[in-house]
Amino acid sequence: MATEPKTLQDAILYFSDADNCVAYLVARRWPNGVTCPTCGRADVSYIPARRVWQCKTRHPKAQFSVKVGTIMEDSALGLDKWLTAIWMQTNMKNGVSSWELHRSLGITQKCAWHMLHRVRLALQDTQTGGKLSGEVEVDETFIGGKARNMHADVKARKIQGRRGPMGKAIVAAVLERGGKVRATVVDRRKKKQLQALVRENVEPKSALYSDGACPLVRRK
Ligand SMILES: [Zn+2]
Repeated sequence: MATEPKTLQDAILYFSDADNCVAYLVARRWPNGVTCPTCGRADVSYIPARRVWQCKTRHPKAQFSVKVGTIMEDSALGLDKWLTAIWMQTNMKNGVSSWELHRSLGITQKCAWHMLHRVRLALQDTQTGGKLSGEVEVDETFIGGKARNMHADVKARKIQGRRGPMGKAIVAAVLERGGKVRATVVDRRKKKQLQALVRENVEPKSALYSDGACPLVRRK
């Protein structure tokens, strides 16, 4: 894999290559190997010509791209646009506006607005209904989209993807078992930001879980 994009120009160039996009996402989403987003099977086969994987179980979406199960799933926009937009939103000091995205990506401002809206929804606390409670997992993860819709074992695998070299585009997420998700962008392993996320989103007496690497909580 080519080197990590450091500047906007790098990012646009890097993400203009479809295989770079797939490799970039796979490394973050499935650091321990690709698994089917629908059933969790790990023995999936890759079809390079179409950049999709084939699951051996019969179910809808048995062929899936890296977009499936993420905020990009039902979008006609390519990974090049999405990943550049996410890169801009998470790496530029004050984020990015839909007008800037429109100019940088050559998409309409309206389209940029919708995309940005989704990216921000995934990154920020957008849920209603108060703090999380009960059993709560805390972890850093890449933007994984609909974590609350995943099977627990799939979710567990996905949230291991925190060692991405991309620094800021790492999302700290707190997940209520079987329920709500809160997420925020953090610099890599910034304890204070993680603590703030938990303080703001989790009821004090909740049981916190993590995979053990999180500086906040002890493994249960
Ligand atoms: Zn499957």
